[in-house]
Amino acid sequence: ATPTALMVGTGRGAQLGILIKGPEVLESTHHINTIVLDKTGTITEGRMTLLAVHPAAGEDDAEVLRIAGILENASEHPIARAIAGAAKERAGELPAPEDFANVEGLGVQGIIDGHAVLVGRPKLLSDWALALPPELEGAIAGAEAEGRTAVAVAWDGKARGVLVVADTVKPTSAEAIGHFRELGLTPILLTGDNATAAASVARQVGIDPDDVIAEVMPQDKADVIARLKAEGKVVAMAGDGVNDAAALATADLGLAMGAGTDAAIEAADLTLVTGDLRAAADAIRLARRTLTTIK
Ligand code: ADP
Ligand code: MG
Repeated sequence: ATPTALMVGTGRGAQLGILIKGPEVLESTHHINTIVLDKTGTITEGRMTLLAVHPAAGEDDAEVLRIAGILENASEHPIARAIAGAAKERAGELPAPEDFANVEGLGVQGIIDGHAVLVGRPKLLSDWALALPPELEGAIAGAEAEGRTAVAVAWDGKARGVLVVADTVKPTSAEAIGHFRELGLTPILLTGDNATAAASVARQVGIDPDDVIAEVMPQDKADVIARLKAEGKVVAMAGDGVNDAAALATADLGLAMGAGTDAAIEAADLTLVTGDLRAAADAIRLARRTLTTIK
Protein backbone atom coordinates (compact mmCIF):
# COMPACT_ATOMS: atom_id res chain seq x y z
CA ALA A 1 0.00 0.00 0.00
CA THR A 2 1.33 3.39 -0.89
CA PRO A 3 1.16 6.13 1.75
CA THR A 4 -0.63 8.48 -0.66
CA ALA A 5 -3.52 6.11 -1.29
CA LEU A 6 -3.88 5.48 2.41
CA MET A 7 -3.98 9.21 3.06
CA VAL A 8 -6.96 9.42 0.71
CA GLY A 9 -8.55 6.73 2.80
CA THR A 10 -7.99 8.62 6.04
CA GLY A 11 -9.40 11.82 4.54
CA ARG A 12 -12.55 9.98 3.50
CA GLY A 13 -12.65 8.55 7.02
CA ALA A 14 -13.06 12.00 8.49
CA GLN A 15 -16.13 12.53 6.29
CA LEU A 16 -17.60 9.30 7.63
CA GLY A 17 -17.21 10.47 11.20
CA ILE A 18 -14.11 8.43 11.90
CA LEU A 19 -10.85 9.81 13.26
CA ILE A 20 -7.93 7.61 12.27
CA LYS A 21 -4.70 7.79 14.25
CA GLY A 22 -2.44 7.19 11.28
CA PRO A 23 -2.59 5.87 7.71
CA GLU A 24 -0.97 2.57 8.76
CA VAL A 25 -4.05 1.81 10.88
CA LEU A 26 -6.15 0.98 7.83
CA GLU A 27 -3.80 -1.82 6.81
CA SER A 28 -4.56 -3.78 9.94
CA THR A 29 -8.29 -3.78 9.16
CA HIS A 30 -7.92 -5.90 6.06
CA HIS A 31 -7.97 -9.30 7.69
CA ILE A 32 -10.26 -8.51 10.63
CA ASN A 33 -12.74 -11.39 11.06
CA THR A 34 -13.96 -10.81 14.61
CA ILE A 35 -15.35 -7.70 16.28
CA VAL A 36 -15.53 -7.62 20.06
CA LEU A 37 -18.00 -5.09 21.43
CA ASP A 38 -18.15 -3.68 24.94
CA LYS A 39 -21.74 -3.42 26.16
CA THR A 40 -22.19 -0.29 28.27
CA GLY A 41 -21.60 2.90 26.31
CA THR A 42 -20.69 1.01 23.15
CA ILE A 43 -23.74 -1.09 22.18
CA THR A 44 -25.91 0.77 24.66
CA GLU A 45 -26.25 4.50 25.24
CA GLY A 46 -24.38 4.20 28.53
CA ARG A 47 -26.98 6.43 30.10
CA MET A 48 -28.57 4.49 32.88
CA THR A 49 -31.77 5.34 34.65
CA LEU A 50 -32.81 4.29 38.12
CA LEU A 51 -35.91 2.12 37.90
CA ALA A 52 -36.44 0.89 41.45
CA VAL A 53 -35.18 0.96 45.02
CA HIS A 54 -35.64 -2.19 47.12
CA PRO A 55 -34.78 -1.61 50.77
CA ALA A 56 -33.84 -4.60 52.95
CA ALA A 57 -36.38 -5.44 55.67
CA GLY A 58 -36.40 -2.60 58.20
CA GLU A 59 -34.50 -0.14 55.97
CA ASP A 60 -35.78 3.12 54.53
CA ASP A 61 -35.68 3.34 50.72
CA ALA A 62 -34.97 7.10 50.70
CA GLU A 63 -31.97 6.56 53.00
CA VAL A 64 -30.63 3.68 50.89
CA LEU A 65 -30.79 5.91 47.80
CA ARG A 66 -29.30 8.95 49.59
CA ILE A 67 -26.30 7.03 50.97
CA ALA A 68 -25.65 5.32 47.63
CA GLY A 69 -25.99 8.70 45.89
CA ILE A 70 -23.38 10.37 48.10
CA LEU A 71 -20.80 7.75 47.20
CA GLU A 72 -21.76 7.48 43.52
CA ASN A 73 -21.62 11.27 43.18
CA ALA A 74 -17.82 10.85 43.30
CA SER A 75 -17.80 8.30 40.44
CA GLU A 76 -17.96 8.82 36.67
CA HIS A 77 -19.50 5.43 35.90
CA PRO A 78 -22.83 5.60 33.99
CA ILE A 79 -24.48 3.62 36.79
CA ALA A 80 -23.08 6.09 39.31
CA ARG A 81 -24.48 9.04 37.36
CA ALA A 82 -27.95 7.51 37.34
CA ILE A 83 -27.90 6.81 41.07
CA ALA A 84 -26.39 10.15 42.08
CA GLY A 85 -28.81 12.00 39.78
CA ALA A 86 -31.86 10.26 41.24
CA ALA A 87 -30.58 10.79 44.80
CA LYS A 88 -30.13 14.52 44.16
CA GLU A 89 -33.63 14.76 42.71
CA ARG A 90 -35.07 13.34 45.90
CA ALA A 91 -32.66 14.57 48.60
CA GLY A 92 -31.24 17.79 47.14
CA GLU A 93 -27.51 18.53 47.07
CA LEU A 94 -25.36 15.71 48.40
CA PRO A 95 -22.38 16.15 50.74
CA ALA A 96 -18.98 14.79 49.69
CA PRO A 97 -17.97 11.43 51.19
CA GLU A 98 -15.04 11.52 53.64
CA ASP A 99 -13.33 8.81 51.68
CA PHE A 100 -13.97 7.31 48.25
CA ALA A 101 -12.42 4.65 46.02
CA ASN A 102 -13.45 2.92 42.82
CA VAL A 103 -13.37 -0.85 43.00
CA GLU A 104 -12.66 -1.68 39.37
CA GLY A 105 -15.38 -3.71 37.70
CA LEU A 106 -17.35 -4.02 40.93
CA GLY A 107 -18.46 -0.64 42.23
CA VAL A 108 -17.40 1.95 44.77
CA GLN A 109 -16.48 2.05 48.44
CA GLY A 110 -16.02 4.90 50.89
CA ILE A 111 -16.78 6.51 54.21
CA ILE A 112 -19.88 8.62 54.86
CA ASP A 113 -20.39 10.18 58.31
CA GLY A 114 -17.91 7.68 59.71
CA HIS A 115 -19.76 4.69 58.20
CA ALA A 116 -18.06 2.31 55.75
CA VAL A 117 -20.24 2.07 52.63
CA LEU A 118 -20.17 -0.29 49.64
CA VAL A 119 -22.18 0.21 46.44
CA GLY A 120 -21.87 -2.11 43.48
CA ARG A 121 -22.31 -5.59 42.09
CA PRO A 122 -23.65 -8.16 44.56
CA LYS A 123 -20.19 -9.77 44.21
CA LEU A 124 -18.66 -6.68 45.85
CA LEU A 125 -20.63 -7.51 49.00
CA SER A 126 -19.83 -11.22 48.90
CA ASP A 127 -16.13 -10.33 48.46
CA TRP A 128 -16.46 -8.60 51.85
CA ALA A 129 -18.29 -11.66 53.22
CA LEU A 130 -21.54 -9.70 53.59
CA ALA A 131 -24.70 -11.78 53.30
CA LEU A 132 -27.70 -10.78 51.20
CA PRO A 133 -31.06 -11.28 52.89
CA PRO A 134 -33.59 -13.30 50.83
CA GLU A 135 -35.70 -10.23 49.91
CA LEU A 136 -32.63 -8.64 48.31
CA GLU A 137 -31.61 -11.91 46.61
CA GLY A 138 -35.12 -11.93 45.14
CA ALA A 139 -34.88 -8.32 43.98
CA ILE A 140 -31.54 -9.04 42.29
CA ALA A 141 -32.80 -12.19 40.55
CA GLY A 142 -35.93 -10.36 39.36
CA ALA A 143 -33.96 -7.40 37.99
CA GLU A 144 -31.37 -9.56 36.22
CA ALA A 145 -34.06 -11.80 34.70
CA GLU A 146 -35.38 -8.65 33.00
CA GLY A 147 -31.96 -7.76 31.68
CA ARG A 148 -31.45 -5.00 34.22
CA THR A 149 -28.50 -4.33 36.49
CA ALA A 150 -28.87 -4.73 40.24
CA VAL A 151 -26.67 -2.55 42.46
CA ALA A 152 -26.32 -3.62 46.06
CA VAL A 153 -25.88 -1.08 48.87
CA ALA A 154 -24.29 -1.89 52.23
CA TRP A 155 -23.02 0.04 55.22
CA ASP A 156 -21.62 -0.93 58.58
CA GLY A 157 -21.17 -4.50 57.38
CA LYS A 158 -24.83 -5.04 56.47
CA ALA A 159 -26.67 -5.16 53.12
CA ARG A 160 -29.24 -2.33 53.16
CA GLY A 161 -30.89 -2.43 49.78
CA VAL A 162 -30.77 -2.99 46.05
CA LEU A 163 -31.08 -0.35 43.34
CA VAL A 164 -32.18 -1.38 39.87
CA VAL A 165 -30.76 0.49 36.88
CA ALA A 166 -31.15 -0.05 33.15
CA ASP A 167 -29.63 1.23 29.99
CA THR A 168 -31.06 1.43 26.47
CA VAL A 169 -29.54 -0.04 23.34
CA LYS A 170 -28.46 2.61 20.79
CA PRO A 171 -30.95 2.68 17.90
CA THR A 172 -28.09 2.07 15.43
CA SER A 173 -26.47 -0.95 17.14
CA ALA A 174 -28.55 -3.74 15.62
CA GLU A 175 -28.09 -2.35 12.11
CA ALA A 176 -24.34 -1.99 12.68
CA ILE A 177 -24.10 -5.61 13.77
CA GLY A 178 -25.91 -6.61 10.57
CA HIS A 179 -23.27 -4.66 8.63
CA PHE A 180 -20.46 -6.44 10.50
CA ARG A 181 -21.94 -9.78 9.48
CA GLU A 182 -22.17 -8.63 5.84
CA LEU A 183 -18.45 -7.87 6.07
CA GLY A 184 -17.86 -11.41 7.31
CA LEU A 185 -17.09 -10.46 10.90
CA THR A 186 -18.32 -12.42 13.89
CA PRO A 187 -19.63 -10.01 16.57
CA ILE A 188 -18.80 -10.91 20.19
CA LEU A 189 -20.19 -9.13 23.27
CA LEU A 190 -17.69 -8.59 26.09
CA THR A 191 -18.85 -7.05 29.35
CA GLY A 192 -18.31 -6.79 33.08
CA ASP A 193 -22.05 -6.85 33.59
CA ASN A 194 -24.04 -9.90 34.65
CA ALA A 195 -24.70 -12.72 32.17
CA THR A 196 -28.47 -12.19 32.09
CA ALA A 197 -28.26 -8.47 31.29
CA ALA A 198 -25.61 -9.27 28.68
CA ALA A 199 -27.78 -11.96 27.07
CA SER A 200 -30.72 -9.55 26.94
CA VAL A 201 -28.67 -6.93 25.08
CA ALA A 202 -27.18 -9.58 22.77
CA ARG A 203 -30.69 -10.75 21.84
CA GLN A 204 -31.80 -7.18 21.10
CA VAL A 205 -28.95 -6.52 18.68
CA GLY A 206 -28.54 -9.94 17.05
CA ILE A 207 -25.41 -11.31 18.71
CA ASP A 208 -25.36 -15.11 19.07
CA PRO A 209 -25.87 -16.20 22.71
CA ASP A 210 -22.73 -18.36 22.39
CA ASP A 211 -20.76 -15.22 21.56
CA VAL A 212 -21.49 -13.43 24.84
CA ILE A 213 -18.63 -13.16 27.34
CA ALA A 214 -20.00 -11.63 30.57
CA GLU A 215 -18.81 -10.86 34.11
CA VAL A 216 -15.29 -10.17 32.87
CA MET A 217 -13.15 -8.07 35.20
CA PRO A 218 -11.62 -4.97 33.54
CA GLN A 219 -8.06 -6.32 33.79
CA ASP A 220 -9.22 -9.55 32.12
CA LYS A 221 -10.79 -7.90 29.04
CA ALA A 222 -7.37 -7.64 27.37
CA ASP A 223 -6.72 -11.34 28.14
CA VAL A 224 -9.93 -12.27 26.32
CA ILE A 225 -8.71 -10.36 23.25
CA ALA A 226 -5.29 -12.02 23.50
CA ARG A 227 -6.95 -15.45 23.73
CA LEU A 228 -9.06 -14.80 20.60
CA LYS A 229 -5.90 -13.71 18.77
CA ALA A 230 -4.10 -16.84 19.96
CA GLU A 231 -6.97 -18.85 18.43
CA GLY A 232 -5.96 -17.30 15.11
CA LYS A 233 -8.67 -14.64 14.94
CA VAL A 234 -7.92 -11.15 13.73
CA VAL A 235 -9.72 -8.98 16.21
CA ALA A 236 -11.23 -5.51 16.25
CA MET A 237 -12.44 -4.26 19.61
CA ALA A 238 -14.85 -1.37 20.21
CA GLY A 239 -15.12 0.23 23.64
CA ASP A 240 -15.53 3.47 25.54
CA GLY A 241 -14.33 3.05 29.09
CA VAL A 242 -11.10 3.27 31.04
CA ASN A 243 -11.74 -0.43 31.63
CA ASP A 244 -11.57 -1.05 27.86
CA ALA A 245 -8.24 0.71 27.22
CA ALA A 246 -5.95 -2.32 27.62
CA ALA A 247 -8.25 -4.45 25.45
CA LEU A 248 -8.35 -1.74 22.76
CA ALA A 249 -4.55 -1.64 22.73
CA THR A 250 -4.33 -5.46 22.57
CA ALA A 251 -6.76 -5.78 19.65
CA ASP A 252 -5.50 -5.76 16.06
CA LEU A 253 -7.75 -2.74 15.59
CA GLY A 254 -9.01 -0.65 18.52
CA LEU A 255 -12.11 1.48 18.06
CA ALA A 256 -13.11 4.10 20.64
CA MET A 257 -16.46 5.83 21.00
CA GLY A 258 -16.19 9.62 20.53
CA ALA A 259 -18.06 10.24 23.78
CA GLY A 260 -15.82 7.73 25.55
CA THR A 261 -13.07 8.33 28.06
CA ASP A 262 -9.70 9.83 27.08
CA ALA A 263 -8.03 6.57 28.10
CA ALA A 264 -10.06 4.63 25.53
CA ILE A 265 -9.50 7.22 22.79
CA GLU A 266 -5.74 7.24 23.44
CA ALA A 267 -5.52 3.45 23.39
CA ALA A 268 -7.56 3.07 20.19
CA ASP A 269 -6.43 3.26 16.56
CA LEU A 270 -9.66 4.81 15.45
CA THR A 271 -12.37 6.96 17.04
CA LEU A 272 -16.02 6.82 16.02
CA VAL A 273 -16.85 10.48 16.50
CA THR A 274 -20.58 10.16 17.15
CA GLY A 275 -20.38 6.75 18.81
CA ASP A 276 -22.44 5.22 16.01
CA LEU A 277 -21.20 1.64 15.50
CA ARG A 278 -22.27 1.75 11.85
CA ALA A 279 -19.23 4.00 11.32
CA ALA A 280 -17.03 1.08 12.43
CA ALA A 281 -18.46 -1.02 9.61
CA ASP A 282 -17.93 1.91 7.23
CA ALA A 283 -14.31 2.18 8.37
CA ILE A 284 -13.61 -1.48 7.76
CA ARG A 285 -15.34 -1.38 4.38
CA LEU A 286 -13.44 1.78 3.44
CA ALA A 287 -10.12 0.27 4.44
CA ARG A 288 -10.73 -2.86 2.42
CA ARG A 289 -11.78 -0.84 -0.62
CA THR A 290 -8.84 1.55 -0.31
CA LEU A 291 -6.37 -1.29 -0.04
CA THR A 292 -7.92 -3.24 -2.88
CA THR A 293 -7.81 -0.19 -5.17
CA ILE A 294 -4.12 0.36 -4.64
CA LYS A 295 -3.02 -3.27 -4.92
P1 ADP B 1 -19.27 -2.37 31.85
O1 ADP B 1 -18.79 -1.11 31.15
O2 ADP B 1 -19.33 -3.52 30.88
O3 ADP B 1 -20.53 -2.19 32.64
P2 ADP B 1 -17.49 -2.14 34.20
O4 ADP B 1 -16.21 -2.87 34.42
O5 ADP B 1 -17.47 -0.67 34.13
O6 ADP B 1 -18.11 -2.82 32.89
O7 ADP B 1 -18.48 -2.55 35.38
C1 ADP B 1 -18.82 -3.88 35.62
C2 ADP B 1 -19.99 -3.94 36.55
O8 ADP B 1 -19.57 -3.47 37.86
C3 ADP B 1 -21.13 -3.02 36.17
O9 ADP B 1 -22.00 -3.60 35.25
C4 ADP B 1 -21.79 -2.80 37.53
O10 ADP B 1 -22.60 -3.91 37.86
C5 ADP B 1 -20.59 -2.75 38.48
N1 ADP B 1 -20.14 -1.37 38.71
C6 ADP B 1 -19.03 -0.78 38.23
N2 ADP B 1 -18.90 0.49 38.67
C7 ADP B 1 -20.00 0.73 39.44
C8 ADP B 1 -20.46 1.85 40.19
N3 ADP B 1 -19.81 3.01 40.25
N4 ADP B 1 -21.63 1.71 40.86
C9 ADP B 1 -22.31 0.56 40.83
N5 ADP B 1 -21.93 -0.53 40.15
C10 ADP B 1 -20.79 -0.46 39.47
MG1 MG C 1 -18.20 0.50 28.79
